[in-house]
Amino acid sequence: MIKEYSHEPFTDFLIEKNYREMEQALEHIKSYLGKKHSLLIDGKNVETDEEITSINPANKEEVVGYVSKASKEHAEDAMKAAHHAFESWRLWDAEARAELLFRAAAITRRRKKELTALLIKEGGKPWKEADADIAEGIDFMEYYGREMIRLKDGAPVKSREGEKNKYIYTSMGVTVVIPPWNFAFAIMVGTTVAPIVTGNTVVLKPASNTPVIARAFIDILKEAGIPKGVVNFCPGSGSEVGDYLVDHPLTHLISFTGSREVGTRIYNRASQVREGQKWLKRSIIEMGGKDTVVVDKNADLEAAAEEIFVSAFGFSGQKCSAGSRAVIHEDVYDRVVERVVKIAETKKVGDPVDGKTYMGPVIDQSSFDKIMNYIEIGKEEGRLVYGGKSDDSKGFFIDPTIFADVDPKARIMQEEIFGPVLAFSKGGDFKELIEIANNTEYGLTGAVFSNNREHLEYAKGHFHVGNLYFNRNCTGAIVGYHPFGGFNMSGTDSKAGGPDYLPLHMLPKTISEML
Ligand code: NDP
Repeated sequence: MIKEYSHEPFTDFLIEKNYREMEQALEHIKSYLGKKHSLLIDGKNVETDEEITSINPANKEEVVGYVSKASKEHAEDAMKAAHHAFESWRLWDAEARAELLFRAAAITRRRKKELTALLIKEGGKPWKEADADIAEGIDFMEYYGREMIRLKDGAPVKSREGEKNKYIYTSMGVTVVIPPWNFAFAIMVGTTVAPIVTGNTVVLKPASNTPVIARAFIDILKEAGIPKGVVNFCPGSGSEVGDYLVDHPLTHLISFTGSREVGTRIYNRASQVREGQKWLKRSIIEMGGKDTVVVDKNADLEAAAEEIFVSAFGFSGQKCSAGSRAVIHEDVYDRVVERVVKIAETKKVGDPVDGKTYMGPVIDQSSFDKIMNYIEIGKEEGRLVYGGKSDDSKGFFIDPTIFADVDPKARIMQEEIFGPVLAFSKGGDFKELIEIANNTEYGLTGAVFSNNREHLEYAKGHFHVGNLYFNRNCTGAIVGYHPFGGFNMSGTDSKAGGPDYLPLHMLPKTISEML
C-alpha cells in the first residue's frame, strides 16, 4: 500500500542534533572532494581526457570534483544506447518504473545530509536552501511515481454497443534533459525522472557548474536498479554537446530549464526536421523570470517587508522565482523600503559552510561580473539604499543590494539579473501596481500583499503569472502543492510537480475495437 503523497519535511537546524549532524556531514564530504567522476553510457562508466573542473564558489581554490567531459562522439553513443534501451524500458510495467523512483527516493533520504553538504560546496547554497533543494528532489520522485500509477490505465472515454474504446498513454522515446545549476539537485532530478517513469529513456547533460551532484544522483539511480541505457550521463559544453543532442534525429522530447537565451535557441532548433527524423520533436522549455512583489496600502507591512527580503535574497537571488522587483503603494512606500533595509542589516553574508550564513556566494566569475555590472547600471537608474559591495578574492560574494525610486521601465526593473539585487518602484493605486507588475516580458511568479478582498480578486484575473501568491513570498514552490511554471518568456508553462506534467512526456493513444 503506497502512502498518500506529502512533501518531504524540511530539516530544522535550530535543533541541536540536526545542526551537529550537518556539521559532521560537511566534515565527512571533505573526504570525497576533488575526486574524478565519469560519464555513464549504456550502463558503463566512461572516462575522458578532457574534464570539467567543478569548484566551490565560496572558495575558488577548493575543487569539488573533476568530471569527464563528453564529446560529440560520446553524445552519439549515449543517443544510440538510449534509443536501444527504449524498446524494452517502455514495456516495463508502469508500477515497476514507479517503484524504482520510490527506491531512489529512499536512498536519497538516507543520504540526505551528505548530499546537502555536497550541494553546499558545489552550489554555494546556505544550509536551509540546500536542504530544501534535496527535499524537492525527493518530492519529485515520490510525486511522479504516484502520478504514473494514477495514469497507467489512461483516461476514461465512452464505449458504444459493439465497440470498446480505450484511451491510454504511451512512451515517446529518447529525452534530452538539460537542467540549470541553480536547483542543481531538484530540477535535475525532476526533469530526469519524469521521462524515466513515463517509459522514456534519457540523455542527461547537467549544468557545467554542478556536475558532481548530478553524477551522485546517477549513482543513486543505479543503486535503485535502473537498467543500462535508460539513463545516460553526458556532461559537456552546452554549445557543443547540447546543440548536438537537441539536433539529433533520434531525440523525441527535450526537457530544458535555464535562461531565456538558451531556451529560445533550443525551441527554435527543435522545430527543424533533420534528415532521418520521423516525428516532430516536443520541447518543454522553462526559462527566466523578473518576478514582482506588490504591496497594497492596507497590507501587513511587517510581513510584506520580511517576505520581500526572502523573495529577493534567498539563495542570493539566484532563483527563477526571485522577487527582484517590489512595487509598493505610494502611501506606504517609504516605510516598506526602510524596513527591508533594516532587515538586510541583520543578515550574514559569507561561506555557506557556516550554518549561520544567510547568503552565500553567487555561482561563478561570469555571474559575479554580470551582477556587478547591473549594480553599476542601478546606480544610474535609482537610489542605492543598501549594499553594492562585493569581494571576489576568495569566492564570489556580493552584498544584498537595494535600489529605491527606480522607474518601472528601467533596465534593473526589466532584465533578469539573477543575483542579490532588489529594485523598488511605487504606484498610486492598486490597478497601477498590477500594471507595473505585468510590464516585463516574463510571467513566472508574483506576490501580492493586501487585506482588500476586492484587490486580491482583481489580481487573480489581471496579474499574469504562472504562480501567483497572496500574502506570502513568491519563491519556494513545493511539488504537488504549488505546480510550477510561467507564462510569456518564462516558458512553456509545463507546471513541474503538478497533475498535468507527466502527460507532456507521453503520447496518448486511442484503441477502438469492434466486439
Ligand atoms: P543556462 O541557460 O545558461 O544553462 C542551462 C543549461 O543549458 C545548462 O545545462 C547549460 O549547459 C545548457 N546549455 C547552454 N547552452 C546550450 C546550448 N546551446 N544547447 C543546449 N544546452 C545548452 O542557464 P543557467 O544554468 O545559468 O540557469 C539560470 C537560468 O535558469 C535563469 O534564467 C533562471 O531564471 C532559469 N531557471 C528557470 C526555472 C524555471 O522553472 N522557469 C527554474 C530554474 C532556473 P552549460 O552549463 O554547460 O552551459
